[in-house]
Amino acid sequence: MAKLSFEFPDGNKKEFDSGVTAEDIAKSISVSLAKKAVAAKLDGKMIDLMQPLDQGGKIDIITSGSDESLQILRQGAAQLLETAVKEKYHDIRIGEISADKDGFFVDTDKEDRQVSSDELEELASKMKKIIKNNATVNRVYLSKDDALKEVDGDPYQAKLIAKIDSDNILFYSIDGVKTLAQGVVAPSLKDLKHFKLLSVAGAYWEGKSSNPMLQRIYGTAFFKADALDEDLKHRKEAKERDHRVIGNNLDLFFVDPKVGAGLPYWMPKGATIRRTIERYITDKEIAHGYQHVYTPVLANLDLYKQSGHWDHYRDDMFPPMKMDDDEMLELRPMNCPSHIQIYNHHIRSYKELPLRIAELGMMHRYEKSGALSGLQRVREMTLNDGHTFVAPDQIQEEFKKILNLMMEVYHDFDINNYTFRLSYRDPKNTKKYFDDDAMWNKAQTMLKGAMDDLGLDYVEAEGEAAFYGPKLDVQTKTALGNEETLSTIQLDFMLPERFDLHYVGEDGKEHRPVMIHRGIVSTMERFTAYLIEMYKGAFPTWLAPDQIQIIPVSDDKHGDYARKLNEKFRALKLRSNVDERGEKMGYLIRDAQTKKIPYTIVVGDDEIKNNTVSVRKYGEDNSRDMSIDDFISEVLHDIATYSRN
Ligand code: ATP
Ligand code: ZN
Repeated sequence: MAKLSFEFPDGNKKEFDSGVTAEDIAKSISVSLAKKAVAAKLDGKMIDLMQPLDQGGKIDIITSGSDESLQILRQGAAQLLETAVKEKYHDIRIGEISADKDGFFVDTDKEDRQVSSDELEELASKMKKIIKNNATVNRVYLSKDDALKEVDGDPYQAKLIAKIDSDNILFYSIDGVKTLAQGVVAPSLKDLKHFKLLSVAGAYWEGKSSNPMLQRIYGTAFFKADALDEDLKHRKEAKERDHRVIGNNLDLFFVDPKVGAGLPYWMPKGATIRRTIERYITDKEIAHGYQHVYTPVLANLDLYKQSGHWDHYRDDMFPPMKMDDDEMLELRPMNCPSHIQIYNHHIRSYKELPLRIAELGMMHRYEKSGALSGLQRVREMTLNDGHTFVAPDQIQEEFKKILNLMMEVYHDFDINNYTFRLSYRDPKNTKKYFDDDAMWNKAQTMLKGAMDDLGLDYVEAEGEAAFYGPKLDVQTKTALGNEETLSTIQLDFMLPERFDLHYVGEDGKEHRPVMIHRGIVSTMERFTAYLIEMYKGAFPTWLAPDQIQIIPVSDDKHGDYARKLNEKFRALKLRSNVDERGEKMGYLIRDAQTKKIPYTIVVGDDEIKNNTVSVRKYGEDNSRDMSIDDFISEVLHDIATYSRN
């Protein structure tokens, strides 16, 4: 019999007969290793312990408790869930099933109706029962024809089987039910003690919105009970912070994939938050020497050919629109070429530099549908964009000025949790990045030098630069744990070349400016998402869509007084409302707290008599009696100082 040679991670080599399994190999090393083994890696590829091997290579036994073993455990949970689902519903079809660092899922499709979250508990007990009765997993190979017969007309399974490049189709048989192997599992499910079925949600077959929507059942599993508890706690917190959940509860915005994925609608309250941010940042930038402009979202495609977007950024752009007269119009994916038009509209003198052009610029990017997430990643967005045009010797100074502006803004919004990332090009990827080694080296060194000068900590990331130059990104974490860029400052020696920009120097000659692209509060979409998660929906008074809720004790007796107060507050540009629903007071106060309104005030006989209000601030248990003037001063002071509740 042919001998196969295996090399272990410590470099030792050992020979085995063909047909050996990773389990046999583990046993040959030690009984304790075999006991802990859940799977193996052969030349880096994950295999199960039961597979008879016909090739040697570098072998690594994966033992329970390691990071990789978690995925094996969860794949086992997914195959087991599929088994339970098939046992419970005989008319069910199965799509993709998968396990990763976030948990596992099984896509299902039932004839009459989809599986609902009410049924998860029953499915979980079924899974537990199977583990208790017989937790072994058997491997069954079927020919392609037999495999297709086995799945009995399930179109999703048939497609998955058709894609497999072999006539030997592997199924894992659990409790006598065969499930198509869609990952690697351990030979026994006995370790699967701490799992939880979490939720159900629609998911398109193959991730395409033109395909049928299946029902995805989510779950997670761990080796230890406390790890599961910790994860469930974390999920609960993340859900409470998730901007999509809060955005829905507080009626701030919505996205309807039927109308357009990644194209958000801002409801009145969300629009108020956005308008407040827009006014704030526009005023702030004007105070810092920026000149705000408006420029069109559409331009002739030639503009984006000249800028290089068409060559380097086309995958992210919407296709051009061909007009009757053959003109090609393009929705802009970035505002830079527009601001270059503004710069170039006049002859510029060195005396005008740094020239700072800014805009709340709407742009469109064709983001992948799987990457879209609430307001965080959208397809139509409005960027707090700005481009400063500087003489080469002004770069460092201007870079520091932008950082200062950013810090001021972060202070006002109370943003503290962020890290700096210097984003460089990937020198091997000449298609994605403008090809000019000298330019890249110069710009990257300059950025790094400025950060070192300022003594700021940063990480360096290759392959994250813009196509025209390196950048400093400010990174934050979302509730779901994804890292996203909030602010960005980018150096650019390329676009000034391409558009032949110049200014007249002190010497009367023409010189080439350098461009700095910068976004302070990112897009209105991503920034609002970020703030919702950071404040957990409890916006500071200056940003809150409703700032004051007035509750009359009795509408008959105190309603008119309440409405008069309301007018007074509104005349001061405060966002105030009277709750006229006439429900019980306790209920109305609780309701105002649920809506996270910063100030709830109650007016009754005493308040009218004394010209006072009874004030309860969001998050405080007790109310305070205050004169109306004192109350107004407190609210105005809160707003003027951007104070956090
Ligand atoms: P990302 O890496 O996040 O896709 P990018 O590097 O392509 O962003 P820039 O071209 O620098 O982004 O865009 C400026 C800013 O706009 C980003 O820093 C980010 O905060 C925000 N942004 C980018 N894409 C989106 C999007 N699809 N939805 C919402 N905001 C976005
Ligand atoms: Zn730009």
